[in-house]
Amino acid sequence: MAKTKRGKGLLGLPSRGRGTCPVCLSTRIKVLYTVTNSEGKQIQVCKRCSSAPQSKIDKAITTGTIAFRRRLRKTLNELKAKQSATD
Ligand SMILES: [Zn+2]
Repeated sequence: MAKTKRGKGLLGLPSRGRGTCPVCLSTRIKVLYTVTNSEGKQIQVCKRCSSAPQSKIDKAITTGTIAFRRRLRKTLNELKAKQSATD
């Protein structure tokens, strides 16, 4: 089976397959795994979250606007704090 999550195959992807995981908010992680939330919507998450329980997946936020740049770190940390407060 081809390794779709390693090597050259990643080079053509946007940001080389990396970004901020919408579930755990890890930055610059490979976001290549597809999971389905309870509404039937497919989202891309990191490897760690690919096996996360459904309740976690449903808490996913839109990370499209969150870059992994330093200047947005504060916003991200706030989001993270909010997320862990609801756990
Ligand atoms: Zn994740």
